[in-house]
This record gives sequence, C-alpha cells and structure tokens, in this order.
Amino acid sequence: MNSTTAPTEGPYAAALAQFDQAADQIDLDPNLREVLRCPKRELTVNFPVEMDDGSITCFTGYRVQHNVTRGPAKGGIRYHPSADLDEVRALAMWMTWKCAVMNLPYGGAKGGVTVDPRTLSRHELENLTRRYATEIIPLMGPDSDIPAPDMGTNMQVMAWIMDTYSMHVGYSVPAVVTGKPVAIGGSEGRERATSRGLLVATQAMLERLGRPVSGTVAIQGAGNVGLNALQLFSEAGFTVVAISDSSGGVYDSTGLAAPRVYKHVSDGGWLADYCEAEHISNAELLALDVDVLAPAAIEGQIHSGNAAKVRANLIVEGANGPVTPEADALLNDRGVVVVPDILANAGGVTVSYYEWVQGMQHFFWSRDEINRLLADHMGRAAQEVWNLAQDRGVNLREAAYQIAVGRVAEATQLRGIYP
Ligand code: NAD
Repeated sequence: MNSTTAPTEGPYAAALAQFDQAADQIDLDPNLREVLRCPKRELTVNFPVEMDDGSITCFTGYRVQHNVTRGPAKGGIRYHPSADLDEVRALAMWMTWKCAVMNLPYGGAKGGVTVDPRTLSRHELENLTRRYATEIIPLMGPDSDIPAPDMGTNMQVMAWIMDTYSMHVGYSVPAVVTGKPVAIGGSEGRERATSRGLLVATQAMLERLGRPVSGTVAIQGAGNVGLNALQLFSEAGFTVVAISDSSGGVYDSTGLAAPRVYKHVSDGGWLADYCEAEHISNAELLALDVDVLAPAAIEGQIHSGNAAKVRANLIVEGANGPVTPEADALLNDRGVVVVPDILANAGGVTVSYYEWVQGMQHFFWSRDEINRLLADHMGRAAQEVWNLAQDRGVNLREAAYQIAVGRVAEATQLRGIYP
C-alpha cells in the first residue's frame, strides 16, 4: 500500500502514524519500513446468509494478515456495523506489534464482518459465522492463521468456527481458533484474560510510577474486556465508580456493585436501564476525576476534541486504538501516562497463545497455572517497556512500539526478502 492510497483519518491512519513515529525513532532502514508498513494479505468476501424468514442477505467480511514474519497470523474477528477494510487493516497491524511486544511467536491478523450481531437470531448468527468461516478457510489453519474473539464475537462463535473448519478437513482441529469453550479444547482463564492482563499492567505501572496500587477507576465499554475488568479491578481493591456501554453509563462515587452490574449486563440488559446507580453519558465518563481511566470499547474515543477534558492521570487502553495520535500528544504534554493497547490489552492474546500451545499438544494446564503464566508474561513485558521508556526518555507507547517494530524488523532482516 503506497502513500497515495493511505487514509488520512480513522484507525488505519492512526496505526500508520504510530508505526511511522516508531520507525523514525529507531531510524528504521527505509526498505524495512516499506515492508513492515504493508499488510501482507487481504481477503474480502461477500457471502449470502439465509435468514429465519427464508430471505437471503449478503454480508461483507474481511480477513487481513498484516505480517507473518515471526510466526502464524493471530488476531480476533469483529462483528460490528462499522467494520470495514481500513479498520481491519489497522487492527491487524496492531496485532503484529502486540504479539511482538509480548514476544509471542506470532504475526498479526484481524477479521471482521459488517453486521450488528444483536439484530440476528442465534440461528442467523450461526449461519453467518459458518459461512464467513468457510469463506476464509483458504487463510485459516493452526499453523497459518488462528482467529479469536473480538467485539461482537464470543466463545460460541469460536466454537462454530472451530467446528466448521474441522468439518472441512474431516477431523477436529482445536488449535485453529482460540477463545473457544473449555469443553472443546479452550483454555482455563481465557475468557477473563484480557481484563486480567489489563489489571496486571495497571498494577505494574502504578507501582513503577510510585502511586498507590488502588484508587478510583472508570471503564468505558461493558463487554468481554470492560465487564470482566469491572469485576477483577473491584476484587483487587480498586473502587470502580463508573462503567458504560453504547447506551450510556452508570456512576456511583462509593463504587459500583460489581456482581449486580455484571448480572444485569450478562442477562442482556443495557446500562441505560440499570436502576441502582446514577446515569452519566459516555462523554461524562471519559471526563471523570478518577485515578485510572480504562477505555475498553472502540477506537478513537479520546480525540483532540475531548483530550483536554480527561482528568485521570493514568489511562490504560483496554480497547484497541481508543486514543488518537493527536490526543496522545496532548495527553503526553500534560503528563498523563498512557499504557498503550499493544501492552495493556495483550493478556487476551497471551492466554490465546497458551491455549494454542495446549491445543497443539493435547495437554492442558489448570486455571491457576494459566493465571500465573499470564501474570509472569505481562509483568516481564511491562518491565521491558518501562525500562526502555526510562533509558530512552520516551513515553510508554513509544517504548512499546520501539521494542515491537525492532523485533519484527530484526526477524525480517534475518529471514531476508524472498527470492
Ligand atoms: P464486546 O463486543 O464484548 O463489548 C464492547 C462493549 O463496548 C459493549 O459494552 C458495547 O456496548 C460498548 N461500546 C461499543 N461502542 C461504544 C461506544 N461508542 N461508546 C461506549 N461503549 C461502546 O467487545 P470486547 O471484546 O470487550 O472488545 C472491546 C475492545 O477491546 C475492542 O477495542 C477490542 O478490539 C479490544 N480487545 C478485545 C479483546 C478480547 O479478548 N475480547 C482483546 C484485546 C482487545
């Protein structure tokens, strides 16, 4: 993808700007920059799905592999009405850096289908998933490209993808997806792994900053990442005062009753209908005077228009790309510490890696073992990012990118350009 076709705004523009900054800072060879900037493979599929009333609807889906130099492509699948090729490209590129900063033997990929899954019946969702999985089978495989859940998808969707792939090859291949149920070869601890990693990264950075490892937290997003973060941060002694979903947010200055909010949302309720706390908007949530702000919904939520209103002095990016590069610079100038997505939310892909290893070996670890592996892995990566930031006088995002881009560049140089 040359500069004439590169977008000027949106998540992919942000991902390219972040990469370019890291490439400048590490003085990356221009030839390597050319290679690492481009997505390696992009597949767009238009496919029919039979709906419950017998009608046929055509959906569009994508799978993008940004880079596979360090190992098989790894990355989630998103079902969202605004999913498009540029968003999937951005998410795939972020996966490359995330796997590299965590030192996982993977490249980066992402998939997406332009659909609001909440408008589909369970049967329609299964039909859509099985047909989309069939369309991307040319790319998928336990040694080539391993999907996982992201926004709008979950363990059940992964189970259907695993089954569809297995039916096509004629035998069960649990390692073709991660984030699947434990009953069919999933890993203990995977469902909460992204949020657990977010907690470990937050604790590690608060400790290194010399701040109390406690205090008030606001979370944007009440899905897999946000809702599990509400529980885990509360259990770890933080006071989670606010959480939101796309319907709006809820606030309690004394701390939300995590189990009650969890139940309300898991039962399918919107937070706008939760009666046991004050209602606030998403904009108000982002401007709360809290110790930790965890955007865990969607890209571009903290931007140049609202960055000045953010009062938290630590932001941990549960979502991918929630802070735009413009907002990042404004926050940095004000001394707000941002723990970048490629580190902060990497707990999910880290346990996905352990799930894949278990699937390949048909040998399984206990939940305690998985949680310990995750904490050790995240602790190690956080330490490396912190140390580099201190050594080079850069912020945590710059340090994480310098490590990640450096690792992928080294691998590319060692392998060489074929032929
Ligand atoms: P999810 O679909 O389970 O939940 C998303 C939540 O965000 C929902 O509560 C939804 O209502 C809310 N939301 C959507 N748009 C919003 C908006 N404009 N304002 C406020 N809330 C909004 O998704 P998830 O799996 O929790 O993923 C959330 C983010 O975390 C995404 O950026 C995803 O890429 C990232 N992420 C997820 C994982 C994972 O393991 N699931 C891993 C790493 C990163």
